[in-house]
Amino acid sequence: MPEKISFRLELERLQQDVISCTRCPRLVHYREKVAREKRRMYQDQEYWGRPLPSFGDPNAELLILGLAPAAHGGNRTGRMFTGDRSGDFLYRGLYEARFASQPESISRDDGLKLRGCYITASLRCVPPANKPTPEELRQCRPYLIRELQLLKRVRAVLALGRIAFDTYLRLIYEGLWPTPDSTERLVSKLPPRSALGFAHGACYALPGGLPRLFASYHPSQQNTQTGKLTPKMFQNVLREIRRYLRSPQRSS
Ligand code: SF4
Repeated sequence: MPEKISFRLELERLQQDVISCTRCPRLVHYREKVAREKRRMYQDQEYWGRPLPSFGDPNAELLILGLAPAAHGGNRTGRMFTGDRSGDFLYRGLYEARFASQPESISRDDGLKLRGCYITASLRCVPPANKPTPEELRQCRPYLIRELQLLKRVRAVLALGRIAFDTYLRLIYEGLWPTPDSTERLVSKLPPRSALGFAHGACYALPGGLPRLFASYHPSQQNTQTGKLTPKMFQNVLREIRRYLRSPQRSS
């Protein structure tokens, strides 16, 4: 089978595995309960109510790593960051930075395409109060690792929020990130973990051919409504990423 087809099939298989996952009893119970009970304004809609597959361009150079689906956003619509305010903010920003074909993401069949960008999450099921347990994050990690093994063109990772930032670095520091460098050599070249602090706009070049790490505050309604994260602040991060991806010296 040609490599290109097999890689896309593998990615599709991975998403099917995600969708049928029941590893975390607490989250299975919660996502189904939310889907059954629904928010009043969505009573006439059928909720997705399952783990969320990733969304985007399989040839992406930019990987966006979020936290988890929202109860009445992704858990309702079945697409990452779709159907709520944080998604409105994110996709408008991606559209303005020319990573998305349209500024809105409303449903799985609204025609939206991402260009050079792929969105995934630290956790695929909605957690109660938006707070996953460390064990739930750990259970979901193998899906992200498999995804990273398949997305070979990724050169930049944008972590949305501290949990996503920590999820990404944990993979690297525990030697789980699939890198051309051997795990042992890579870990010995890494800076102390404490040197990589989370801050909006932070950017870290990492050794061993790893993608460059960018950080942004999460576009949660809490952050965007209070002005902690503004469209301009988010655009500045995307502009930096674009500049990096266009530069001839793209490796860390
Ligand atoms: S959070 Fe991840 S590991 Fe847990 S049930 Fe959902 S998809 Fe499975």
